[in-house]
Amino acid sequence: MHSHPGNVFVISAPSGTGKSTLANRLVASLEGLMFSTSFTTRPPRPGEVDGKDYFFVDDAAFDEMVRHDEFVEWVQVYGQRYGTGREWLRGVLNSGKDVLLDIETTGALNLRRAISDAVMIFILPPSANELEQRLRGRGKDSESQIQARMQHARHELELYHAYDFLVVNEDLESAYRQMESIVWATRVRRERMVGRAQDILREF
Ligand code: ADP
Ligand code: 5GP
Repeated sequence: MHSHPGNVFVISAPSGTGKSTLANRLVASLEGLMFSTSFTTRPPRPGEVDGKDYFFVDDAAFDEMVRHDEFVEWVQVYGQRYGTGREWLRGVLNSGKDVLLDIETTGALNLRRAISDAVMIFILPPSANELEQRLRGRGKDSESQIQARMQHARHELELYHAYDFLVVNEDLESAYRQMESIVWATRVRRERMVGRAQDILREF
């Protein structure tokens, strides 16, 4: 999948780093940037909306999509399957919108193989200690879940070298500005601007 007008951004981070905080603000603040809506077999949680948070499908429908190669990437996590729909993504990108994908690291690396110009952003916590404090502060996990997340964080952090941009979320404002800069810099890359430059040149 290449040469679409919109840009693809993939954002990964160990749980608790601040990915949702940063990604939500980015999508709310930047015009023309939207979240990807994945397909999943997991049941909706209270408040989740079909077609917005996810496209909720059953196992048979997901199988069918896999069989017809309708996913750019898909994974199985915690017994449920999640995938990025090829047609859905193509449609949004062709309309000129930029898409932000919040997917786990295995899917992110597979997506990069399918879309080589995807912009891969990895967010790191400033330290192990700070990550543990944020997980505690969020108050969502039990002590054993926090320990499991810290273990998993180590494995995920080792994948940083597969990403284009590394943002350390120490000070939230600085991290946010760095993310915003990545989006803006991507939008004005030469290959994105060639058409516009040629239009201008033609006037001379
Ligand atoms: P993730 O989506 O990566 O799991 P969240 O966005 O839910 O993480 O953030 C985890 C917790 O850390 C939240 O309580 C959030 O308010 C807090 N947090 C996020 N960024 C910062 C930061 N730069 N400094 C301090 N706390 C932060
Ligand atoms: P949740 O069930 O909490 O919404 O998501 C569980 C995990 O699946 C999260 O890490 C989320 O980023 C990941 N995820 C959601 N959609 C996709 C997808 O389309 N592809 C991949 N690879 N991961 C996804």
